[in-house]
Amino acid sequence: MADVIPFRKPSAEERHKGKVLCRHGHHKWQVDKAKQFDVQQGRLVTVYICSRCKERKVKAH
Ligand SMILES: [Zn+2]
Repeated sequence: MADVIPFRKPSAEERHKGKVLCRHGHHKWQVDKAKQFDVQQGRLVTVYICSRCKERKVKAH
């Protein structure tokens, strides 16, 4: 009989911990692929989005 490893969902506490990190400015930045090379006000920018809280930031080139 095969061992059954139960699928473990992240607990509310773990999710809360992530938000705490975000509140302290430690976002989990990922490049927004859809807007990787967006143009804002005539400048090429890369859009980053936090995978936890969906905060966004742009980096100008
Ligand atoms: Zn965040």
